[in-house]
Amino acid sequence: MAEEVLGREAASGLVKQLRETFGSGKSRSLEWRESQLKSLLKFVTDCEQDIIDALLSDLSKPPFESVVHEDINATTVRFKRCPTLTIKERALIAMLKNSCKLALKELKRWMAPEKAKTSITTFPSSAEIVSEPFGVVLIISAWNYPFLLSLDPVVGAIAAGNAVVLKPSEVSPASSSLLAKLLTEYLDTSCVRVVEGAVAETTALLQQKWDKICYTGNGRVGRIVMEAAAKHLTPVLLELGGKSPVVVDSGINLQVATRRIIAGKWGCNNGQACISPDYIITTKDFAPKLVDSLKEELEKFYGKNPLESKDLSRIVNSNHFARLTKLLDDEKVSGKIIHGGEKNQADLKFAPTILLDVPRDSLIMSEEIFGPLLPIITVDKVEESFDIINSGTKPLAAYLFTSNEKLKKQFVLTVSAGGVVVNDTSIHLAVETLPFGGVGESGMGAYHGKFSFDAFSHKKAVFYRSFVGDAAIRYPPYTKGKLRLLKALIGGSIWGIIRALFGRS
Ligand code: NAD
Repeated sequence: MAEEVLGREAASGLVKQLRETFGSGKSRSLEWRESQLKSLLKFVTDCEQDIIDALLSDLSKPPFESVVHEDINATTVRFKRCPTLTIKERALIAMLKNSCKLALKELKRWMAPEKAKTSITTFPSSAEIVSEPFGVVLIISAWNYPFLLSLDPVVGAIAAGNAVVLKPSEVSPASSSLLAKLLTEYLDTSCVRVVEGAVAETTALLQQKWDKICYTGNGRVGRIVMEAAAKHLTPVLLELGGKSPVVVDSGINLQVATRRIIAGKWGCNNGQACISPDYIITTKDFAPKLVDSLKEELEKFYGKNPLESKDLSRIVNSNHFARLTKLLDDEKVSGKIIHGGEKNQADLKFAPTILLDVPRDSLIMSEEIFGPLLPIITVDKVEESFDIINSGTKPLAAYLFTSNEKLKKQFVLTVSAGGVVVNDTSIHLAVETLPFGGVGESGMGAYHGKFSFDAFSHKKAVFYRSFVGDAAIRYPPYTKGKLRLLKALIGGSIWGIIRALFGRS
């Protein structure tokens, strides 16, 4: 069911409706959660071609990337734009479907109360941690992976038993309208709704009281979301971005490293991805070898004229195209482009572009690039990169290519980032046993796999007592002896307890 433009009153009515359904307990049952997850899986399977077409329309996204990142069923999709797709590539991780399948497989276990230890102080007793749904949650998603970023949190919210409002990004209009039109045909609209819209609609939604808000996007709007949430003391999951660095040491398998950097940068939406490598730091000595390798592999992947490559996404819209152009027009980086730079405004195509030795106070180094430009900073010693990274805001991801074990340890210990990957880029996103989220300016909270279930659950502490073992020492009149025994019990030392019982301090 496609929703019409939403004002404050309509938003309030929508939340009221969902709150009533949530209050009825409908979304809490295992059966309801399972049926919704199965329907979500069915939606992705049934509508794969529609999804592919929407992504092509919004982002000119190569179908191969859609299959891998947005989890479309590769076998039935028309790969008319990717004739070279291999069977092996088709078998690559399909993240969204995997999230649904994992949740369906593990749901009973995730929902089961978790036993907790109790102490002698409260003997006899038992305790458990009960995961309870927050209630009615709002999910606001971003344009760059419009299906994955919308539906992956929805999987977590449903698995945890919440009622959900999803607000996809207006910047990917075809994907947003497909979600509004088709998703709600598959899901129970008394508990799950899709609201389309831009700033006005999102503002109307943010004026309501939610039990949790999950927002994916930039930090400026992240602050708006958090401010709105603070009014109701609503907890937030903020999935933001940042400048994710790649440190490249010498003595590595350069070709593999280069290919993995390219895959993470240009192979993910042409750099329009939150964990895309934002800039490289390498040594002055190693930079020429790295640059040669990048140029060589880029040509192998995207040909001599990358603007014509079918394997590169376009820039999402003319605003972002102008923003990226401005980064290159900054006079501080004039003469620094050593590869690429070609662009075509008419079809929003931007070639992979490498800049060498950019000054750290240039525009390109002061904001998240979120596009196909890759600046390289050079240092005398690779260890200097740690201070450079830590002097900026905390990134969503930090990457290191090295064969040096000591450097790996140092990097993991010293560099603060949402996630760290050694000898690859971006791939941690697909590891469902790892939490995915930022730290500091790159966000707060995390999801994926079981972490998604936890992100949308309150961990309720539950403690059970019977009527036996009622100890008089808790109650007045308070005496020194009771105090001694109580202290010993809290201290947990058996000898202390025995001494207290025999009146010894
Ligand atoms: P966007 O423009 O799609 O905006 C995100 C959402 O915010 C949209 O739903 C939009 O309607 C809403 N919005 C925009 N302005 C608003 C306002 N004034 N008030 C209320 N809501 C508003 O996406 P974007 O921000 O351009 O996304 C790119 C950023 O998101 C980058 O910084 C990127 O790193 C980050 N990102 C992070 C992740 C992650 O998982 N951590 C994933 C993708 C993108």
